[in-house]
Amino acid sequence: MSREVKVANLTLGGKRIYVQSMLNTLAGDHDAAIIQAKALEEAGCDILRLSVPNEASLETIRRLKKAVSMPIVADIHFDYRLALASVKAGVDKIRINPGNIGSDEKVKAVVDACKENQIPIRIGVNGGSLERDLLEQYGAPTPQALVESAMRHVRLLEKFNFYDTVISIKSSNVQNMIKAYRLLDQICDYPFHLGVTEAGTKEIGIVKNAIGIGSLLADGIGATLRVSLTADPVEEIAAGYQILRALDLLEGACQLISCPTCGRTKIPVIEIANRVEEALRKNRSGLKVAVMGCAVNGPGEAREADIGIAGGNGEGLIFKKGEIIRKVPEEQLYDALMDEINKMTKEVANGQ
Ligand code: SF4
Repeated sequence: MSREVKVANLTLGGKRIYVQSMLNTLAGDHDAAIIQAKALEEAGCDILRLSVPNEASLETIRRLKKAVSMPIVADIHFDYRLALASVKAGVDKIRINPGNIGSDEKVKAVVDACKENQIPIRIGVNGGSLERDLLEQYGAPTPQALVESAMRHVRLLEKFNFYDTVISIKSSNVQNMIKAYRLLDQICDYPFHLGVTEAGTKEIGIVKNAIGIGSLLADGIGATLRVSLTADPVEEIAAGYQILRALDLLEGACQLISCPTCGRTKIPVIEIANRVEEALRKNRSGLKVAVMGCAVNGPGEAREADIGIAGGNGEGLIFKKGEIIRKVPEEQLYDALMDEINKMTKEVANGQ
């Protein structure tokens, strides 16, 4: 169990895991920032971060606060005055790496401003920006070194009586990242922001993030996540939700069970499965839906499905909980399945 930390109206450390992303529009380009922020909000982004490398970004914060309703996080490096100004501009959370903010007095100034405005701070430790003494001591950004760096910063904030802290200790090495968070979880109860940093382009990046973030979430570790991808940030949100969905951590999300197809497949399983997946994306009935290629193994293998189809020769079967309820021509299979799904979704909504 982790301690709860409020970010605007969201509670990190509670039951729900929040998905976040970061703007990649050029700092100071307010219009581009707002267009992207709206696209991210539409995609389901719960928390939005932006880099604040200059004064122009402060105006972006002010405009974002009016344009979107998700909490906004300012990402600060080096200049503590930009952190103070971001607080004034209305951000909901500050991400700093206290190691590069400078003296303890500067960190204290940020802490005091955050405390006064009830704004949490994320300590973001990265394998690539570890303090020199820890690198020398450990010889590399090992999990122990990352944890020690994070705890050093946590203690500094605690020295100033600040406890609204969220921690991330990201590494581009998936194994190190998993080990580091697990170690940290044993010694502190602050909520964690999970992520694999510099994970790469979409395909490999999603795999790395799913393994790293997913392993930790499966352990019950993590309050919020960012899938970092060298791609459109909207893709990060989609991937984040797929990770939660795969682990049954997305309340009400539907699960699609579909067979891998084989020599017995006589209906377009791949096409139907893709269409059903798309149609279920925003459905929150919690239904398990199966798309199976044949009746030989289909209904039996997908017995746990609430509703499903199994292909035949020019026709298909609709089954509920493993029991066949209808036979329909192949070309009507998708529509017939969707009719049943829509009926069942209404029943769930009406509590039947
Ligand atoms: S359900 Fe049928 S078609 Fe699909 S993989 Fe299994 S045996 Fe093959």
